[in-house]
Amino acid sequence: MPSSNFLANKVALVTGASRGLGQAIALALAAEGATIAAIARTEDALKSTLETIRAAGGVAEPFALDVSDSAACEETVTKITTKLQRIDILVNNAGVTRDGLLMRMSSEAWDTVLDTNLKGAFNLTKLVGRLMIRERAGHIINISSVIGLMGNAGQANYAASKAGLIGFTKSVAREFASRGITCNAVCPGFIETDMTKDLSEDLRKKLLASIPLQRLGQPADVAGVVAFLCSPAASYITGQVLTVDGGMVM
Ligand code: NAP
Repeated sequence: MPSSNFLANKVALVTGASRGLGQAIALALAAEGATIAAIARTEDALKSTLETIRAAGGVAEPFALDVSDSAACEETVTKITTKLQRIDILVNNAGVTRDGLLMRMSSEAWDTVLDTNLKGAFNLTKLVGRLMIRERAGHIINISSVIGLMGNAGQANYAASKAGLIGFTKSVAREFASRGITCNAVCPGFIETDMTKDLSEDLRKKLLASIPLQRLGQPADVAGVVAFLCSPAASYITGQVLTVDGGMVM
């Protein structure tokens, strides 16, 4: 989508903005004029995202936060609004995996994934939603996964968190629609980031064979769709689940 600065004077909070999809999303929204409140667990990790945005003439501020910590989320949202005055867009992107077959999955592996991927979105949507309701405007985008639609052996915790995000998205969309706020989910397929870099060559080949567009996705493929969902062109879209996977799931 060519840049038209449609996010000028808007503030976008992007979680997991230190690398991968979150970094690409932060860059794409900044390119449309948004000021970025970039979140990762440490400020240090956000350095390259901030440098890239600022080098392109954009504005971004770092905030260290573990999204699974409800009290810390509250403090951070206050810090962001004190510094940047407003939050118009929330992208719940931070996510982790702790893969393993269910019979061997520890409670810790279950809790870490659910607390980060699903409760993190609950924590921030509740806090930022309050601000958006006051403004009677806003866009919330939850980064789910095709695994939340299909399930995957060895990822029961991850699949449950991502399927949960879809139900969460549709409920929030229904609750917030009358206040002019949209809430949508994006389900990426196989995108080349740190999260997917350790797959064996064999598995990669098998995955490629299941992708009609015959290539793995890039973070920019997902970032463009998130930017679209924040644009005026998408103002009549809410409660939807957009799959960005080269045609894997159809
Ligand atoms: P990634 O490269 O591993 O990056 C994960 C990001 O989440 C990092 O910025 C990390 O920041 C942040 N993060 C993790 N735990 C956090 C926490 N507790 N609090 C705050 N930030 C936290 O992953 P990715 O591939 O870009 O994935 C991004 C999102 O897309 C995830 O939700 C993932 O499930 C989803 N997704 C990815 C793919 C794919 O193929 N890559 C496919 C479908 C869905 P720090 O480590 O710096 O704190």
